[in-house]
Amino acid sequence: MTIYKINPYIKNAIWAGKKLKKFYNKISDVDEIAESWELSANENGLSQINSIDFDKFVRDNPQFLGKNYDFEKFPLLIKYIDADDDLSVQVHPTDEYARKNGEPYGKNEIWYVVNHDPKASLYVGMKENVTREQLEKAIDDADVLKLLNKIEVENYDSVFIPAGTIHAIGKGITVIEVQQNSDTTYRLYDYDRVDKYGNHRELHKEKSLEVSDLNRYDFDNLKHDAKKISNEYFHIEILDLNGDLDVEIDEDSFRFLGVFEGNCTVGELEAQKGDSFFIPASNDCVKIKGYGKIIIVKLGAI
Ligand SMILES: [Zn+2]
Repeated sequence: MTIYKINPYIKNAIWAGKKLKKFYNKISDVDEIAESWELSANENGLSQINSIDFDKFVRDNPQFLGKNYDFEKFPLLIKYIDADDDLSVQVHPTDEYARKNGEPYGKNEIWYVVNHDPKASLYVGMKENVTREQLEKAIDDADVLKLLNKIEVENYDSVFIPAGTIHAIGKGITVIEVQQNSDTTYRLYDYDRVDKYGNHRELHKEKSLEVSDLNRYDFDNLKHDAKKISNEYFHIEILDLNGDLDVEIDEDSFRFLGVFEGNCTVGELEAQKGDSFFIPASNDCVKIKGYGKIIIVKLGAI
């Protein structure tokens, strides 16, 4: 079995930070990187394997995806996000809403915190049940934050954001985000910021109101130092490396493997902090040697 190193797609935004270049060895002409799309077959930013766009790579090698794989469009998108400023307050559509609008997937997402500044915090979900009218008024008054839970983070916190949950990553937080393969975001509030040309980013009030979950956020979606996180969309495993480790692979699903602390070898390949790999589905075992932490993701519902 061959293991493939992935070349990420680097993306910028007004809130980009310096940590992905400095700590995670991401390569860019500019110092500030907002997102590094590690595993992406999304048309808005394709990662690559051996200089081949990842969507073509998987179309050319469907046997790599797994025997139970049954999707028209590659279902996952995995990225690093470095927020040097607050991200907009936003919400993503459910599968049902996305399909009505001609897209195959909504966007359920999970954040795994890998770095944070002291006291950094994020917003997720409603503090209490609200009505649509209350949410609409809060959007009109640019006062949505008051409805949301504000949570201070620690490294290795995971935050599941079911589609429809209003959320915002706060300044000073670096996460690995595992999500469905969708790039659809509806903004409710953007801190009244302007870009270098003096323009505000667009807000999407009507769509936000249509998709937002008005119920109180379920705190079972927050975990600290979970080693396994599983739902119908993805299975995530966090492994501590301390010498030699054998990771079992199976024929059901490919694996994404990301090294987010330390360095190691993955099979024959050298890996440093920030490197990511694609492992084809097969009844096999990957030998890993080194120190640090890795994240392994496979498809959910398989
Ligand atoms: Zn989001």
